[in-house]
Amino acid sequence: MKSVVSSFDVDHRTLREGLYLRSTYQINDKLSVLSWDMRFCAPMDHKPLTPGAVHTIEHLMAYWLRLDETIGHSIVSFCPMGCLTGFYLSTMNDVTAEQIKAALGRVYAKVFPIHGKEDIVGMNEIQCGNPSLYDIEGANEAMHKYVGILFSPEEAAAAGLKL
Ligand SMILES: [Zn+2]
Repeated sequence: MKSVVSSFDVDHRTLREGLYLRSTYQINDKLSVLSWDMRFCAPMDHKPLTPGAVHTIEHLMAYWLRLDETIGHSIVSFCPMGCLTGFYLSTMNDVTAEQIKAALGRVYAKVFPIHGKEDIVGMNEIQCGNPSLYDIEGANEAMHKYVGILFSPEEAAAAGLKL
């Protein structure tokens, strides 16, 4: 039976790391919103991200992707998966996977590696519900690995990424 939650229709036993268009939501028959699965960890590898790394990446990506010149204006939300294996990026339907990948590369080149809590946008008591939950090393490692999954060595070199 097809589930009302589209990700429940994906067989997570065979899902690998990557960037996937998970579903398209039609809202009031007018707006078309895309839900992208940014899968950092293969579920069956049983090596999810640390909660601190997830929270750190959430803050940085939610902020920096919105400033990206190509896709920033089309971003609806950037949210962590509760299973700690990735994130959901919601966008308007004028964005392609290639554009998202390129934007991720630009954010990675500009922001990572981070060196301390002061590099994490909004990680303070005023702007966040749990500012002591962060993981500098875990976030750097997770982003490095994910960009290495999305970009071939040739693509990374062309984009000026150090992998
Ligand atoms: Zn927070």
